[in-house]
Amino acid sequence: NDVLIRAEGLSVGFQIGKGLFNKQILKAVDNVTVEIEKGSFFGLVGESGSGKTTLGRAFLKAVPITGGHARYEDGEVSYDLAEIAGPELKDYRKRAQLIFQDPYAALSPRMTVRDIIAEPLEVMGLTSSRAETDERVREIAAKCRLNLEHLRRFPHAFSGGQRQRISIARALVSDPKFVVADESVAALDVSIQADVLNLLKELQRDLGLTFMFISHDLSVVAHTCDHVAVMYLGRLVETAPTRTLFEGAKHPYTKALFSAIPSLDPDDRGTAQKLEGEIPSPTNQPSGCKFHTRCPYAVDRCKSEEPVLEHADAAGHEVACHRWRELMVPA
Ligand code: SF4
Repeated sequence: NDVLIRAEGLSVGFQIGKGLFNKQILKAVDNVTVEIEKGSFFGLVGESGSGKTTLGRAFLKAVPITGGHARYEDGEVSYDLAEIAGPELKDYRKRAQLIFQDPYAALSPRMTVRDIIAEPLEVMGLTSSRAETDERVREIAAKCRLNLEHLRRFPHAFSGGQRQRISIARALVSDPKFVVADESVAALDVSIQADVLNLLKELQRDLGLTFMFISHDLSVVAHTCDHVAVMYLGRLVETAPTRTLFEGAKHPYTKALFSAIPSLDPDDRGTAQKLEGEIPSPTNQPSGCKFHTRCPYAVDRCKSEEPVLEHADAAGHEVACHRWRELMVPA
């Protein structure tokens, strides 16, 4: 399959602290190598502080890439995202869009829904008349199940699910190819989440979009994504087709995340391995395997040597753990 975005050794570092002696570099994303296939629904999971939002922002050029490479390739178009600037960056902004996290905070209360959705077209100069803008707004609004009456109202008149549909229409109005959805259903009730997820899947198929779906919630990812990558402290620790990952996770961190999903099977309860403690601060990272401070299987080697992603048994399944092979054998 075609790859739309390919990252190699990608890092994003922020300078924190002031003065000559207090400066520190916080590596929010560290040495990430990953491929996102065209037309896929790619899930990125991890706890807050894992770097997943920063990785999504790096692919949107919303934060500077400070190391490694990322390439966007679509037909004739090929952009180096670490270097992209000027007219190429302007073109990329149309192609890559973000659906915001919080539909309550993201929409201006003083603008009508029509104006909220139309704004990116006007800012990017993508239409040449008000009539053309209106036509495009109506077209994308209808795909997001918003009618003409909705377009005349202000966002406060809408429920959470409807507001999220307004955010989605706004993100898609410029006809992007790549969309980052960052915790796009986290603020919604579970029953509404399913509606929004179904809409995203429908839009992906109809419009041929590639999605990067960022979530802390593995059960949401399971129902939506084709491929999942798990992040911990800025690193990818495991990546696999969704089904493979759900049937045979190999990294102790991924297994612990799965254990946190409540099981419907009564025989399953109580056997789950709990994820103890907090994710360490990115400014004070553990040596070796970054997960060793919380991993029940850590040995001395884990404290000194950082594991790299290696191919596991199934196609597209990769894991970064020194002990994944031994841990597959039941005790
Ligand atoms: Fe645990 Fe060691 Fe594997 Fe890290 S490398 S996940 S500490 S067993």
